[in-house]
Amino acid sequence: MKPEAIHKKKTKKVAVIVAHPDDEVLWAGGTLLAHQEWQCFIACLCRKSDPDRAPKFHKALTVFDSKGAMGDLDDGPRQIPQDKQEITRVLFELLPNINYDLIITHNPTGEYTRHLRHEEIGTTVLSLWYEGKLSSKEIWVFAYEDGNRMYFPRALKTTGLYFDLPNYLWNLKYELVTNVYGFEQDSWEAQSTPKAEAFWKLSHKEDALKWLERGQTS
Ligand SMILES: [Zn+2]
Repeated sequence: MKPEAIHKKKTKKVAVIVAHPDDEVLWAGGTLLAHQEWQCFIACLCRKSDPDRAPKFHKALTVFDSKGAMGDLDDGPRQIPQDKQEITRVLFELLPNINYDLIITHNPTGEYTRHLRHEEIGTTVLSLWYEGKLSSKEIWVFAYEDGNRMYFPRALKTTGLYFDLPNYLWNLKYELVTNVYGFEQDSWEAQSTPKAEAFWKLSHKEDALKWLERGQTS
């Protein structure tokens, strides 16, 4: 981390809402490291009781100079669908109830093929924002696709929020994946660590409604 960045005043209130410890790094790590002026709270809904991953998440928080909390939303291998009520319950236990400038979260259609928790959490966050139960000026959802498993997830270039990470940021991100989270170099996580990050930006609640309706019809 650049030493001069550490003392930057944190002026923007940002919440990052993810399913798993590592999602904050994989899909937004470079962006978070680049914005030292963001006062971030990272809510990770699953794996609070995972003795391996939970301490790694807290270590990552210190690298991001962020606050955060974990929950124990079901994350079993069977991926039993979780309803909005349960996801909301876990989220509201973790996330400080304030007016955010920005919320960053999963895409309701996911980032790769496929993980149900990512999709459910993205959908729930957009829905709560639309209903006025989550307050934020805008929402960014992760914008990646994997060609239906043809390749590792790639950031979409057409979103308007596409960040090609400079080498020093990508190296920091890769270190988080391999050193802090401890993924082997040949793991899916290490190999897929995106070198660019992209987001769809939603500024109006009607945008959220469109996303939700699209999800329901697909
Ligand atoms: Zn995940």
